[in-house]
Amino acid sequence: MAGTLFDSIIFGPLTSRRLGASLGINLLPTTIKFCSFNCIYCECGWTETNHIEKAQLYTAKEIRTALEERLLYLKEQHVNLNSLTFAGNGEPTMHPQFVEIIDDTIRLRDLYAPNSKISVLSNSTMLAKENMIEALTKVNNIMKLDAGSEQMFQLINKPKNRITLREIVEQLIKFDGKLIIQSMFVRGEMEGVAIDNTLDSEIEAWLQHIQAIQPKEVMVYSLDRRPPLARLEKIMEPQLELIAEKVRQLNIKASVY
Ligand code: SF4
Repeated sequence: MAGTLFDSIIFGPLTSRRLGASLGINLLPTTIKFCSFNCIYCECGWTETNHIEKAQLYTAKEIRTALEERLLYLKEQHVNLNSLTFAGNGEPTMHPQFVEIIDDTIRLRDLYAPNSKISVLSNSTMLAKENMIEALTKVNNIMKLDAGSEQMFQLINKPKNRITLREIVEQLIKFDGKLIIQSMFVRGEMEGVAIDNTLDSEIEAWLQHIQAIQPKEVMVYSLDRRPPLARLEKIMEPQLELIAEKVRQLNIKASVY
């Protein structure tokens, strides 16, 4: 299934389940998904094998100009924003000028939308890059952690590089608690292999990672729109609540979306 791509740098404001009135910032190409993961539930569709070679990225200057124009317009229209949100057609932290773009966005936010937070939805794969954790801790960072075991991580997130779940968890621990974890729960089957990150053994392993990371909050959620893998089942709210309650028993805030 082909997914849905955003066709501009700035999109919205949209009403987000988690962030309210959210102005989207897409640092990635508008014609191709650009991501280090190939999640089985991705709304952008499958990640193409040669996507990095084909990609043409906007420069930090182009992004700054587009954001400033839109923020100025929204200010003149008296539109209130809750969040300037880095999301879009893949993984925003893969942009080579991401750190500079965060600083630009903080300056523009302070000028045009001082009551709005800046949020980054990230898949947690680029945290070893220089200054990346420092840049992310300046903003409302929401980092992906979908699996408890290495095997489930490979099945659900299908990393395009050789990164392991263990490496990701080690990097997330370095945030020193200044992060939010987002975890998608799904159940299904692909090429004859069962996929279920809600199994007791998976939840137990995932909780151990959460305990080690000590985030300020965990966002627990399931499918909202149709995923690329049709045989994937949405986890219903009562089960998500049970998972969230296990996080709360660790004295960590958890919300279901
Ligand atoms: S990390 Fe996000 S953009 Fe990348 S494949 Fe997963 S859901 Fe899609």
